[in-house]
Amino acid sequence: MSGEASAGFAALGLEPRLVETLTTLGYEEPTPIQEASIPPLLEGRDLVGQAATGTGKTAAFALPLLQRLEAGRSKARGPAALVLVPTRELAMQVAEAVHRYGRPLGVSVLPIYGGQSFTQQLRVLKRGVNVVVATPGRALDHLNRRTLDLGALQVVVLDEADEMLDMGFAEDLEAILAATPEDRQTVLFSATMPPRIAAIAERHLENPVQIRIARAQLPEGAVPLVRQTAYIVPRAHKLAALGRVLDMESPEAALVFCRTRNEVDELTEKMNAHGYRSEALHGGMTQEQRERVMKKLRSGTADLLIATDVAARGLDISRLSHVINYDVPNAPESYVHRIGRVGRAGREGVAITLAEPREHRFLKNIEQLTKRKIDISRVPTVADLRARRLALVRASLREALLAGELDGFRSVVESLAEEFDPMDIATAAVKLVQEATGAEVDEEGADIPEAAPPREKAGRRKGAPGKGKGTAARGEKAAPRRGAGRARGPRGGIARLFIGAGRGAGVRPRDVVGAITGEAGISGGEIGAIQIADDFTVVEVAEDVADEVLGALRGSGIKGNRVTVRRYREGKRGR
Ligand code: AMP
Repeated sequence: MSGEASAGFAALGLEPRLVETLTTLGYEEPTPIQEASIPPLLEGRDLVGQAATGTGKTAAFALPLLQRLEAGRSKARGPAALVLVPTRELAMQVAEAVHRYGRPLGVSVLPIYGGQSFTQQLRVLKRGVNVVVATPGRALDHLNRRTLDLGALQVVVLDEADEMLDMGFAEDLEAILAATPEDRQTVLFSATMPPRIAAIAERHLENPVQIRIARAQLPEGAVPLVRQTAYIVPRAHKLAALGRVLDMESPEAALVFCRTRNEVDELTEKMNAHGYRSEALHGGMTQEQRERVMKKLRSGTADLLIATDVAARGLDISRLSHVINYDVPNAPESYVHRIGRVGRAGREGVAITLAEPREHRFLKNIEQLTKRKIDISRVPTVADLRARRLALVRASLREALLAGELDGFRSVVESLAEEFDPMDIATAAVKLVQEATGAEVDEEGADIPEAAPPREKAGRRKGAPGKGKGTAARGEKAAPRRGAGRARGPRGGIARLFIGAGRGAGVRPRDVVGAITGEAGISGGEIGAIQIADDFTVVEVAEDVADEVLGALRGSGIKGNRVTVRRYREGKRGR
């Protein structure tokens, strides 16, 4: 089936080397946003696309961009493409994706963001790169220092444009775009399309193709009867979370979805190593292999089927009780297809989704399409699993008591009762049953962090952050931390930090918020009051991130300038 997989991408006009790379990465077919965007982008059209994280938008703009880079163009002319992104994390992710897709074409890419030393970035820029992926603040700093020349740029991509505006980067974007050639190709992706984004598109894009994946109208009864739950889990903890959820739910048989072939193979191997009877199913397998797998599942010799969307299409296994989205699907419609594998013939099925913090918006889109609520739950803790195992032991004991026929065991209790309290004897017996029956609770990942979904955008400030008060109402940007992201301003202990630059140096609240959230990767919910004096600034942050913020600000500085940053001590302002 691998021929079929590459056929989907080749049909969009992508060149053989790129198609080959995608096959190697285990991509089976283009996502809807890729199908709609790649052909017009290859033609050189400007494009406005509404797409959330998880839809495959990065490949949607990166693949055409790579293919259109002029062959043989000298790097000395400056970068040919610039991708602007809101955060340091995204800059690294996108740069990595561009690098991965562009490797066979020999394309070089450089991420530039605050917090990293200028010198290193300068060295690479001097040597010459094809693609720069940057946060707006740092890109502008380089432009102002004349260390970045955008004069020969062919393509500009504004990725997550709504986030960039929310972070107060509007002016920076204008300044950067003004430094690029008029005849460049411009691509704008945004999860939401508020009027401010439309206005930017109107000003800077020429006759753009508008891609908004039309919401399919679902026919009556298309959404099966399923209990839907989602867990917000950082990528690094997904495997542990899956184990916990499986142990808690005890599915009869579950279908677990991953995005790519490679991920299916990897997860199958890991789950088998953890003692789950799992089988892989993907488009790279022969019909014979597929049939063997299906047989194992039907007969109960396997309990987990780990599959890609393509391979699971039309699958009909009556034993399936759970569908688990290990990766969120690439479009809300695929979610409905996936969960259609359970909840058949009036039986209640269960659909579970492990979403990464950045993919929270995607859950909203699914709720809108299905008109059903998805409960966001906490990943079961080790204590939850223990409690559940005890409940099972209790139920078995109760059954044994009701069934009677205990006479053969009574003498053991009677003899022990001469020495011990009967209550203690029973308790010890429960302990032994528990130990004998329970699979060991996985305590490796005892600290799966609880990731709060990013705050909703309703009621957010427009434009720049407010005037010096707990300003940064923005979503989770970095690896989430326990309980972060809900309350306005930091909860718990507060640290006050001194920054040795103030109004006199042109520091505005948004520079402080931008440096902390974007460059240091701290959630906006952990920033409190910001006071800007003439020659210094004091900002409040949550105590548990204070050292991280200090370290990052010392590295990145404010507005590209190194400044003194330290804990603020009342009455001691100077250095
Ligand atoms: P993005 O929405 O760009 O953040 O991409 C989400 C994830 O989907 C990334 O991990 C990509 O590697 C993956 N991805 C992108 N396109 C495809 C595809 N056609 N098939 C499978 N996975 C994909």
